[in-house]
Amino acid sequence: MIRQLAPHVADLIAAGEVVERPASVVKELVENAIDAGSSAVVVEIRRGGMGLIRVTDNGCGIAPEELPTAFLRHATSKLQNPEDLGKIGTLGFRGEALAAISAVSRVDILTRRRGDTAGAALHLEGGVPGPVEDAGAPEGTAITVRDLFYNTPARLKFMKKDSAETAAVNGLVQHLALSHPSVSFQFRKDGADALHTPGDGRLESAVYAALGRDFAKSLVPVQGKGGDVSVSGFVTSPLQCRGSRSMQVFFVNGRFIKSQLLTAALEEGYRNQIMKGKFPGCVLAVTVPVTLVDVNVHPAKTQVKFAREREVFDAVYHTVLDCLAAKGTPPPAAPLPEQVKNLRGDFFQTMDAKTYRDRQSGGTETPAARTPHPAWNSERPSATVRLSDSAPVILYGEKPKGGYLQEPEPVPVKPPEKRPENSPKPPRKYPPAIPQARGEEVPGQRTLAPPGETPWRIAGEVLRTYIVCESEDGCVWLIDKHAAHERVNFDRMKASQEPPMRQTLLTPAAVELGPMDKELLLENLPLLEQFGFACEDFGGGTVLIREVPADIDAADARSTLEELAACLFMGRSLEERRESMLHTMACKAAIKGGWTSDPAELRALVDKVQSGEVQYCPHGRPVAVKLTKYELEKMFKRA
Ligand code: ADP
Ligand code: MG
Repeated sequence: MIRQLAPHVADLIAAGEVVERPASVVKELVENAIDAGSSAVVVEIRRGGMGLIRVTDNGCGIAPEELPTAFLRHATSKLQNPEDLGKIGTLGFRGEALAAISAVSRVDILTRRRGDTAGAALHLEGGVPGPVEDAGAPEGTAITVRDLFYNTPARLKFMKKDSAETAAVNGLVQHLALSHPSVSFQFRKDGADALHTPGDGRLESAVYAALGRDFAKSLVPVQGKGGDVSVSGFVTSPLQCRGSRSMQVFFVNGRFIKSQLLTAALEEGYRNQIMKGKFPGCVLAVTVPVTLVDVNVHPAKTQVKFAREREVFDAVYHTVLDCLAAKGTPPPAAPLPEQVKNLRGDFFQTMDAKTYRDRQSGGTETPAARTPHPAWNSERPSATVRLSDSAPVILYGEKPKGGYLQEPEPVPVKPPEKRPENSPKPPRKYPPAIPQARGEEVPGQRTLAPPGETPWRIAGEVLRTYIVCESEDGCVWLIDKHAAHERVNFDRMKASQEPPMRQTLLTPAAVELGPMDKELLLENLPLLEQFGFACEDFGGGTVLIREVPADIDAADARSTLEELAACLFMGRSLEERRESMLHTMACKAAIKGGWTSDPAELRALVDKVQSGEVQYCPHGRPVAVKLTKYELEKMFKRA
């Protein structure tokens, strides 16, 4: 039977589109405050907004007699005629937010118009208003939302942990503050001040307050115009690019939006200037005539449609490109080979912490257990052994000494005893897993190719990235050394039953990640521990790093953490998050295309590929391309 829904059910459904989580409530309330012409807005939340959300402004206020109307569906003061839809200059216009919010919570509003002697108060439960009462109130409006989703248990069930909601609100307030530098924003979570922007009208002040000093310092100003589109703001200098896109902030006509078009235009401006896997950060305000942008394409209004996309793309692209060029940012000069060797010395890293400890204590290696380390596989994060006592201490920024043919020789905690001259070199402490020289047999280790000969021959390396190799059966192989090494690392890490080796930074590094990434990482500290990171909260958007995995360059710590935060954000299940974090770690620990590699490294990789162990990189891209003799002959018209 087909029946029309009862109005309150229809309202609940409609509310679900607008109010998805606490951050959506904050967004709507703050947008109303901005539309009301406020110069100061205070956002307070408790328990991630599930306990309480309060937004207080000093804007125009609402007339007592209009108060109940404001909470009706499709009630707005911002639109009157259909033609108005084509030129929306306010953040709100749908007249749905207050109705939607009050439908799924308990709301209190206290408001006084500028110039009025008395204010008014109203309480609503599940959208049902009580009487409007006279009340003393400061100029402006304060809306308090309690018990969000109390009457929609289905939605309540899907709420994330409070900390995740807090992070989402934090990120949102940041964006709102950045998009309105002339409004002073204050954000308090669970009674503590988390953000306070001065509202002095300068974007750089807002960037500094919202995104932190380090990020602000990495920025260069950009300004430009193309056709009807003007672009202004800040972008990161090419040398300061980030490990993820989390620091890309775009506004269109003062509205924070997500846009692939703008991201693409920005990144195009950096083409050939930044390394693969790095992303520019930005705070870019794009201004287009209101008639050329449709903001009514998404219930949460986080997307827009441009009437002339090409024009917008070109304006952003050329602004970024021209400003970077004017700034004289040098194109990255081809680094000298010495600078791009794998100085970490970790190519052959095979030892896990347990082996290390066993050997330190003179114990013997236990036979390989079948269950891999919980970091990669178990459902719940389990406690890990803290390795600080036995792990090597490596000075921050200093690389392990020795060529990369040796396995990492950790810089010992105590200064090493002096070895008398001419005394025989102490024996190697740990056998490498892969024979280092052709035919060198290491006891207890499987040799992949018969000693002294292999059924393949390395012809050379081209573009410092691809190994060219010929196999006995008359095929030519091109092997991507980074992809191959990444795969080797991935498999090794995944199979390892021990937490990774760590390096304790002598001086802990404070890195600024931004509140969103920081919150995500802090709520996953046990997981990060399992990946070899020891971090803690350092206030603001900053995290203090004490330990990093031994096979990650300490200088890469920030970008690695940013990438891990992206994994945590994107992963839908714990398993998915672990897997993508593992990809990141494997990639970071791998030798890079462009680095000079030692022949022994190349041989080890070819061996893995030729034995069939390694075929695809963890992202599914091929590691090797094979050309048969026949295919070559065909190319040269010999066959
Ligand atoms: P919209 O913002 O789309 O108009 P809302 O449901 O968010 O719809 O708000 C309804 C109306 O209530 C607004 O049009 C505005 O007139 C009034 N209003 C809401 N919040 C405020 C505020 N903080 N200050 C002044 N007026 C407000
Ligand atoms: Mg609104």
